[in-house]
Amino acid sequence: MTLAHMQTLNTGDQALGTVAIYPGTFDPITKGHSDIVARAAGIFDHVILAVAAATSKNTAFSTDERVDLARQVLAEHKNVEVRRFEGLLAHFVRDCGAKAVLRGLRAVSDFEYEFQLAGMNKKLVPEADTVFLPTTENYSYISSSLIREIASLGGNVAEFVHPIVHAALTERLGKRQKG
Ligand code: ADP
Repeated sequence: MTLAHMQTLNTGDQALGTVAIYPGTFDPITKGHSDIVARAAGIFDHVILAVAAATSKNTAFSTDERVDLARQVLAEHKNVEVRRFEGLLAHFVRDCGAKAVLRGLRAVSDFEYEFQLAGMNKKLVPEADTVFLPTTENYSYISSSLIREIASLGGNVAEFVHPIVHAALTERLGKRQKG
């Protein structure tokens, strides 16, 4: 992203109202993620689902693929945008002029790490606060890693992801099996 491009984004974002960033790996986006996005889209003026390009995780899908899948899945939401981000989340949050960092909570076990992350982000970018949304009951057991594992072992994950994501998972794992 060039400096000029960032300036354009900043100018644009100021007109968007209250912006929330929903960061993650989204490898791939699940129904748990889209549920969080749909609810946040009703609370904030503008929601940016931010796909982390630099991740220590060994992802099944490239950053462009993760962005592309999320865009297709979330196309119906007019105030939701999908962007990739490089480097530190705090910098991206500041560049977007966001007021909130959105995270989903599935279980108490998510909390300790999320609480630490929220504290550090507040230190790095004091003008933004972390907002936690609890998962809805039906989606509490869905995680991208579990979905990938089940799909790679030939299980049916159609119930947990958008049909587009299901097709992508089947195609990716099929290719892997051939290789
Ligand atoms: P990360 O690598 O940052 O944990 P993920 O893509 O795994 O990224 O998750 C992004 C966010 O979505 C995290 O806040 C995570 O807790 C939340 N999340 C993941 N799955 C669910 C779900 N089923 N319900 C609610 N929130 C979820």
